[in-house]
Amino acid sequence: MTERPESTTTRPTSTGVRQVRPRTEGWQQQKDESGRPLLQFASPKRGKPPVHLADLTPEERVAKVKELGLPGFRAKQLAKHYFTHYTSDPAAMTDLPAEGREELVAGLLPPLLTEVRRLQTDGGDTIKFLWRLHDGALVESVLMRYPGRITLCVSSQAGCGMNCPFCATGQAGLTRNMSAAEIVDQIVRANQVIASGELGGKKADDHSAERVSNIVFMGMGEPLANYARVMQAVRVMVDKKEGLGMSARGITVSTVGLVPAIRKLAAEDIPVTFALSLHAPDDELRDELIPVNSRWKVDEALDAARAYFDATGRRVSIEYALIRDMNDHAWRADLLAEKLNARGKGWVHVNPIPLNPTPGSVWDASERSVQMEFVRRLNDAGVPTTIRDTRGKEIDGACGQLVATEDDQAAAAATAG
Ligand code: SF4
Repeated sequence: MTERPESTTTRPTSTGVRQVRPRTEGWQQQKDESGRPLLQFASPKRGKPPVHLADLTPEERVAKVKELGLPGFRAKQLAKHYFTHYTSDPAAMTDLPAEGREELVAGLLPPLLTEVRRLQTDGGDTIKFLWRLHDGALVESVLMRYPGRITLCVSSQAGCGMNCPFCATGQAGLTRNMSAAEIVDQIVRANQVIASGELGGKKADDHSAERVSNIVFMGMGEPLANYARVMQAVRVMVDKKEGLGMSARGITVSTVGLVPAIRKLAAEDIPVTFALSLHAPDDELRDELIPVNSRWKVDEALDAARAYFDATGRRVSIEYALIRDMNDHAWRADLLAEKLNARGKGWVHVNPIPLNPTPGSVWDASERSVQMEFVRRLNDAGVPTTIRDTRGKEIDGACGQLVATEDDQAAAAATAG
């Protein structure tokens, strides 16, 4: 391993020993009484979103339909309209009797997301949506076409309580947890957009019916801080009979390291892909970079990640945003490799994520040669490591940047009914 230097903020960069410390820029991090970054785990009390089919188990849906005075099998028909045809429009549901149809749809498929704004890249193969929820809270999702798959990055909370200093979403704190149906509706709405041909980049000779194939929980929020609703949403995603019928391995749940919830996730019988946003292998830096590290340390998070592999057989992803002179040092690559190898071989791979260059900011991208060296060291140590594609940056839709700006607020106000 290379020698670990003393922490400093002043030494020049080319030797790779300069140490830049994390700090917020342009906003003030909320602190608790002890002066540490405030962590919010509980969702503030706000009016709950209306209950929707996707919040309910199949049995609960039948009960609800019966409550509305209709036979229980109507629940399955409604589910088919919503999850297979992506519609909540009673006029399109001609297999349901006209009498009581409006009431049934109003009771089980209430509108959840109002589209406020859509940004699309020039090629049209990436779309960022800004949605307004029933109480005015704003969330975003990003739809991306890749060769052979279509990925949606979804939000799981309005705002976030984890207070990471590099993350625009964390600034405003946690507004509230999203409901399971609000999470699922992002996918259904994206599928509508795909079905109507609005997502670009499709080859002319490709006539396959398309829909979202992969989900990443890397939009707004810490998914494991909203555990029960996120798991209900995942169950609906993978339900082949009365849900979206997606493959669990195509669903990536990522976390900054809520250890008890990682262990709970490992015990579920749904082998989703699990990603740990580590960003630093040493507690000294990670305490500042990821405030939740003050609760659960690097080693505890890695032990829980390894336990996830043991329980599911699914290889774990370690996410690592490479930030110039902050966490991109050769010794940190070596330390990361050492910590991962200490927990065995073949259970993990590392995804370094290059940031967008922000010259003059402490959150600048690593130099290309430094990135390459970081990757080489991990690979040489036997840890599979590949730099991740960060599509979406060009429309400010990449993970950790998903914050509603004042412009967005104004747009939301203008469309509020
Ligand atoms: S990086 Fe993730 S966990 Fe941290 S504040 Fe942002 S959204 Fe929350």
